[in-house]
Amino acid sequence: MKTVAVIVSAGKGKRISSRIPKQYIKIDGRPLLYYTLSVFDAFSGIDGIVLVTAHDRLDYCRRLVKQYNFKKVSRVVPGGATRAHSVYNGLNAVPPETRIVIIHDAVRPLVTQELIHKAINGSRRYGAVSTVVSPKSTIKEIARNWIGKTIPRNRLSEIQTPQAFKYSLLKDAYKKYRGSRKEATDTSFIVERAGYKVKVVDGDYRNIKITTKNDLEFVRFILQPKNIRTGIGYDIHSLAGGRQLVIGGVKIPAEAKLLGHSDADVLLHALTDAILGAVGERDIGWHFPDTDLRYRDMESKYFLLRAKELVRNRRYKILNIDSIIVAQRPRLQPYYKAMVNNISRWLKLSKDRITVKYCTPEELGPLGHKKAIAAVAVVTVGR
Ligand code: MG
Repeated sequence: MKTVAVIVSAGKGKRISSRIPKQYIKIDGRPLLYYTLSVFDAFSGIDGIVLVTAHDRLDYCRRLVKQYNFKKVSRVVPGGATRAHSVYNGLNAVPPETRIVIIHDAVRPLVTQELIHKAINGSRRYGAVSTVVSPKSTIKEIARNWIGKTIPRNRLSEIQTPQAFKYSLLKDAYKKYRGSRKEATDTSFIVERAGYKVKVVDGDYRNIKITTKNDLEFVRFILQPKNIRTGIGYDIHSLAGGRQLVIGGVKIPAEAKLLGHSDADVLLHALTDAILGAVGERDIGWHFPDTDLRYRDMESKYFLLRAKELVRNRRYKILNIDSIIVAQRPRLQPYYKAMVNNISRWLKLSKDRITVKYCTPEELGPLGHKKAIAAVAVVTVGR
């Protein structure tokens, strides 16, 4: 069954006095929209994503989708004058075989896979579902600065997104709904007006809609990495007669080769050591002793993958990598890109968080006399 998310990111953010709409405000170097899309893109229950954005943001959003490799985003389409119209444009861009549509606001970046799952499941059973939370404070009517009626809280709910619908039902609701789309500030309104029932499921208080500066501060605090730790790694391997080096998983033609127990990938060894150090997992020699025959001629990428697992077990995330290769020869610039691509793929870390560079040792010492190649890496992790 095909399930497609329509992410509505067309709002102008008039309530925050900021030059750019809030879904594009950056947290830890990435726009809020990135965080929202990440949750949907990574969720196995979602088959496709349609992103709805303002006309003047179409190019920006298409670049963002490409830059962060959001594989499920099939279309980026322009929004309309109202939210209801924007959702409608999104609906028109979902593939015809779609069965379930899940609508979500880009300005709720703290959405979880659990909420998405709940909404989708509910819509299969009931046709239309909204996530809601109950107001926590007592609610009263106010008349000219005096308290009027107290409204029983148990009759009230705050509507959130995600909301999920059978695609055919939602299309029909839009067809039937003839009222002003201006009053429809959420999609379930249109469905209700068309005569359908909308089931509610528990939302999540953390899944706030960023409306004010305070909301933004709260979300910034939640999303910003915490428990920052750093690790350093150093490695050196001697050179001998040969025809090829392996550095950063890239095979480099050379008049020498690196000696070592595994494939002697000096950069990946330094990097693995730095990762282990950052999460307090001792060092590469302890995890992969060179007396162990299993590691003989092993591709060093496996050390890196194992280190990544250990990071995850300790509930950390790799945030940044910086590294230097020290080599008199060969020139390594032409291979930076391939090295970064490898590391990015293996660690599932975006390329803008990985730096590989090299310096020549100015013909000094054993490195300068082409007796060895060394590498240093510094890794930052956080929760
Ligand atoms: Mg080594």
